[in-house]
Amino acid sequence: MLEEILRKEIQKKGPLSQNRFMELALQHPLYGYYRTHEGVGRDFTTAPEVSQMFGELLGAWAIDYYEKLGCPQNITLVELGPGRGTLMADFLRVTKVSPSLLRALNIHLVEINPVLRQEQQKSIQHASVIWHEKIEEIPCSSDPLIIIANEFFDALPTQCFVRRENILYERAVGLQEESFVFILRPLRKDVGANQTWEETPATVTVMQDITTRLLKQRGAFLCLDYGYETGEGESLQALFEGQPSSPLSHIGHSDLTCHVNFGRLKKLAISKGLGVLGPLSQGKFLQNIGLDLRAETLKHKNPLRCASVDAAVIRLTHSQHMGDLFKVMSVFSPSSLKPAGFES
Ligand code: SAH
Repeated sequence: MLEEILRKEIQKKGPLSQNRFMELALQHPLYGYYRTHEGVGRDFTTAPEVSQMFGELLGAWAIDYYEKLGCPQNITLVELGPGRGTLMADFLRVTKVSPSLLRALNIHLVEINPVLRQEQQKSIQHASVIWHEKIEEIPCSSDPLIIIANEFFDALPTQCFVRRENILYERAVGLQEESFVFILRPLRKDVGANQTWEETPATVTVMQDITTRLLKQRGAFLCLDYGYETGEGESLQALFEGQPSSPLSHIGHSDLTCHVNFGRLKKLAISKGLGVLGPLSQGKFLQNIGLDLRAETLKHKNPLRCASVDAAVIRLTHSQHMGDLFKVMSVFSPSSLKPAGFES
């Protein structure tokens, strides 16, 4: 069905930019992958699904930041793309050691997937949880914010540009007979070195919203994702039932992602006068905020779980696994109030 919709749009308007193609494939209200597939825990695994330690450590990180903020009476906790709600459930279990924080929390979840929303309703036990389709829907207030996004930005539609021989092209999806194919659509003359790069307008929109709120309300944003700080190239990839596949096969049934350009997000935040720490490797960040100690405690409490806890530590921190490719960056205001975890 989604393929029919894409065909019709291409026949009517010409090739679709990669951005529009991803928008339809991932977010079409009826047939988009993120509207219809649970994804996380099935087609792919994320850090909170690897181990409870991930969400717990972020909970401890948040307690520390809440205290740095002077223990405000109300605090808005936002999670973008909470998946099965695992991170938030582990996070909230730890915040029980700080009853005043638990009372202060107003939780806002940004999620477009109705099935995952139901799972979140089951797993997240807190009196104040509100769901939104978009971050813009979260009401503005004077309460400080803590915003968390794990593997959210990589799921947003991304444009891909190519400059060759002083001509600028955009990567697009067209039709060859009945089959979908990638093409380079010429845009204009553009003098410069040959180069390929990506831009993610949806991420910029979300970041602009976050920076405006943080400047007004104070607080910190913690972004964890796979990506790079400098560099270029294209990174679109598809995962169908857990296996790498072509982005043009299984449209609406495969997860499409791109690497996050942390360098650009950092520049945007700095240009608005916010503090920025990172991007730092996920392995280093988790160790800085107490992964080894937490692992020892879990093993001590339940010696039968030693092997699985050790395996999770390796998966979260080693460079052959998630340790280096995954990065952590924090954007915060005021810039003097530095969140924990970024000591190098
Ligand atoms: N943070 C979770 C899930 C990551 S998968 C974890 O670490 O396990 C991406 C999540 O973002 C899913 O919950 C998906 O449904 C949601 N999502 C994807 N695109 C979205 C969008 N445009 N707006 C809101 N949520 C979105």
